[in-house]
Amino acid sequence: MIDLQAIGQHTHIPTTARRLLERPERQLQLTLNLRTTEKHLFQAYAFVVYWNTARGPAKGGIRFWPDVTLAETTDLAERMVYKTALVGVPFGGGKSGIAIDPRGMSIPEKDSIIKEFVHLIRNELFGADYIPAPDMGTTPRDMAVIFGETHRPETVTGKPVRVGGLPGRAQATGRGTATAAKAAMEHLFGRSCGGCKVAIQGFGNVGSWAAWFLHELGATICAVSDVDGGIYSTTGLDVQALTKWVWSGKSLSEFGQGERISNADLLTSDVDLLVPAAIGGVLDETSARDVRAKLIVEAANGPTTPAGQEVLTGAGREVVPDIVANAGGVVASYVEWRQGKSGSLTGEAETYETIDEHICDAFTRTLAVARRESVSLRTAAEILAVDEVVETMRDRGWL
Ligand code: NAD
Repeated sequence: MIDLQAIGQHTHIPTTARRLLERPERQLQLTLNLRTTEKHLFQAYAFVVYWNTARGPAKGGIRFWPDVTLAETTDLAERMVYKTALVGVPFGGGKSGIAIDPRGMSIPEKDSIIKEFVHLIRNELFGADYIPAPDMGTTPRDMAVIFGETHRPETVTGKPVRVGGLPGRAQATGRGTATAAKAAMEHLFGRSCGGCKVAIQGFGNVGSWAAWFLHELGATICAVSDVDGGIYSTTGLDVQALTKWVWSGKSLSEFGQGERISNADLLTSDVDLLVPAAIGGVLDETSARDVRAKLIVEAANGPTTPAGQEVLTGAGREVVPDIVANAGGVVASYVEWRQGKSGSLTGEAETYETIDEHICDAFTRTLAVARRESVSLRTAAEILAVDEVVETMRDRGWL
C-alpha cells in the first residue's frame, strides 16, 4: 500500500483526498461455482476490487493463481490507480483474481471458468465499470472468451488481434519494460543497453517479451526463470530460440542451453540489469542484500518490499518502480479500448511509438522529481501519481 504519510511530506494531500485514497471504493468477494459433471461441483474464490475510479473505469488484469487473495487483489488495484495516473491514461484502478491453478487446466475447463466469471461480474462489465485484461495465468485467448460473452469490444482489452485486439498489445508490457530500462541506463549510468548483462525472473508474457526487446537493444540475456527454476549462461542465452521454445508451450527446464539455477540464484546473479517479471515480494530485506545488479526494473507488480527497497537504496542500487516499468500494457490497453469504441485501426509500429512516448515521459518526469526532492525513483513516481489523482478528484468535485 502506498505510504500517503511519506508522500505527503513532498506534496500537499488534502485530508479528504487522503481519506478517499486510503481505502478501496469497492471490494467484491465471490464464489465461483461450476458444475463440471453430474456429481462434481467445482468452487473457487473470486475477487474484484476498484481502488479509485476518479480518472475513469476501473482498469486492471485478471489474475489466475492458486494463492491469490482479496488482500493481494486490493494491493494490485491500488497500484493500477497510480500507474494509469502517472502515464496519463483516463482509467481508474481495479483488479480481479480467481484462486485457481491455471497450469495443467484444459482449454474447455478454463473457458468454462472464464464464462462463469463473466456471468458473476456481468453488471461490472456491461456497466463499463471494470475493464479486464490479461495478468498472471490469463492470456489473450481468455480475453477473447470474455469478448465472446459480452459481444462488446470495449469491455475487455488484451484480446487477440483477430478478435478486435491491438497489434502490439501482447508485447506491450515487455516493450515498456525494455524502454524503461533503456531510459534508466542512459539517464542514470550514461550508457546504452548494448552489452548489458540481464537476468529476468518469470518467463511468461511480460518476461519473454522484455527479453526479446532488451535483446533487440543489444543486451545479453544471461539468466531467465519460471516457477520451476532458471537457466544461466555467462555468455548469453539464444533469445530467439528460447522464446520460440517457450511460446510453443515447451518447458523452460527442457531448453537445452545454460546451467540450471534456482530463482534465488537468479536474483543475485552477476548482471547489470535485473528484471523481476513474475510475482510480488521477491526482493525483500534478505534477498535484496545479495543483489548485484546496479539497476532493477520492476516488470512484475510489487516485486520489491518496502524493506527490500531500503536495502537496495542503501546499497546504491537504482529501482525503476512497477508503475513506470510495467505501464506499457495499460497504455496499449487504452489504445485498444479507444479502438474498440471508435472502430478505428492501429498498427503495431504506432502501438510501440505510443508506449515508448508514455514510458519515456513518465520516466523523465519521475527522475526530475527524484532529483529535486532527493528521493528514490519509487517515491518520485508516487508523488507525481498522487498529485494527478488528487487534482482529478478536485476537478470532479470530490474534494
Ligand atoms: P504469465 O502468467 O504470463 O507469466 C508468469 C511467469 O512467472 C511464468 O513464467 C511463471 O512460471 C513465473 N512464475 C510464477 N511464479 C513464480 C515464482 N514463484 N518464481 C519465479 N517465477 C514464477 O504472467 P505475466 O502476464 O507475464 O505477468 C507477470 C508479472 O507482470 C505479474 O506480476 C503481473 O502482475 C505483471 N504485469 C503483467 C502485465 C500484462 O500485461 N500481462 C501488465 C503489467 C504487469
